[in-house]
Amino acid sequence: MRSVTILGATGSVGTSTLDLIERTPDAFDVLALTANSDAEGLAAAARRVNARVAVVADERCLPALQAALAGSEVKAAGGINAVCEAARMGADWTMAAIVGTAGLKPVMAAIEGGKTVALANKESLVSAGDVVTRAVAGHHATLLPVDSEHNAIFQCFETSNAGKVSKIILTASGGPFRERSLEEMRGITPEQAVAHPNWSMGAKISVDSATLMNKGLELIEAFHLFPVAPEQLDVIVHRQSVIHSMVEYADGSVLAQLGSPDMRVPIAHALAWPRRMETPCQKLDLTRIGRLDFEAPDYDRFPCLRLAREALAAGGARPAVLNAANEVAVAAFLARRIGFLEIAAIVSDTLERYDPAAPETLDQVLMIDAEARNIAGERVKDCVI
Ligand code: NDP
Repeated sequence: MRSVTILGATGSVGTSTLDLIERTPDAFDVLALTANSDAEGLAAAARRVNARVAVVADERCLPALQAALAGSEVKAAGGINAVCEAARMGADWTMAAIVGTAGLKPVMAAIEGGKTVALANKESLVSAGDVVTRAVAGHHATLLPVDSEHNAIFQCFETSNAGKVSKIILTASGGPFRERSLEEMRGITPEQAVAHPNWSMGAKISVDSATLMNKGLELIEAFHLFPVAPEQLDVIVHRQSVIHSMVEYADGSVLAQLGSPDMRVPIAHALAWPRRMETPCQKLDLTRIGRLDFEAPDYDRFPCLRLAREALAAGGARPAVLNAANEVAVAAFLARRIGFLEIAAIVSDTLERYDPAAPETLDQVLMIDAEARNIAGERVKDCVI
């Protein structure tokens, strides 16, 4: 029996992870589940899997959590420190599925335990890549990629031939506006942006997929996870989302991982690794799919991808500034305060105004993140529609 903790248990990745765990309850002992404010959803999940602890990051929601857990043996807690304590409980396997830089401290707390951390929370690697990977090495922890692209690369990357990898090719569905002109994108609503054609995901990553910032964040994530240079990372638009990414070798061989667009496939891979487990996911039927299409990404219509590429090439604090500004801009777009095209404009403007030195510690990353948020927040006020 393995002990597991799920950070961000009420979200899209969190509930998919719970779904897999609940299918083989005898295999897992759930230590902690966390959420931000969804006390009812968290309490219901904690009761189902008999978790020891349930934590809401937003302390104002603790009374609601306590009420929802009344009569059960699940201990309730509240606040970000309690989330970090839950991450430190020593689970053999921790799913890091909090959205945004809010997940960074809990991810670091889980890494300090020196066990296995399955990482969905890409923003923590984007803003603090060096700090996180140093901590993984220092604490002898194992970091497993859950993002479908990185999980695909992990499955195709021959560590023994790392020096013979010529390229990593990340596939992108192109999002819901793959064929829209810039003018047509001007009036996009949050409802249209979160309606992803292939994947069912949380609101923030769905907007990131629509701007292609998600693919940009994934380039930076891939750089920290695999031993390649930025120029060895490519993006190709593949609208069917069947090939989840590819690794090209010096001899011309290209290894790809394929599967239905269901996050339970990469989550199951991380949950069972180094073995494999059954999932209820639809098996791939290539004759039904019929064809696979590929095209180059359009950096003019999707400037977020270009901005992320530039941040990756420049390194230092640029990815942290990019990520923080994007989080602020996406939240403002979802709150209908700015238009869709303003997301890239705010990220670009924040990068122009703020160019701090490379962070060396977690505290420095958090300071840069906070300052970039202030600057992006000011710009949001200028753009308000
Ligand atoms: P969701 O928005 O669906 O869920 C986010 C989870 O994080 C929820 O449990 C939420 O709690 C919790 N949360 C939100 N804010 C905070 C906070 N400030 N402090 C603590 N917990 C918080 O996101 P997704 O599941 O879609 O994505 C999670 C992460 O995984 C993201 O980094 C995303 O980029 C990555 N990812 C997601 C994929 C997907 O298919 N969804 C695919 C690949 C990567 P509450 O419910 O209470 O708000």
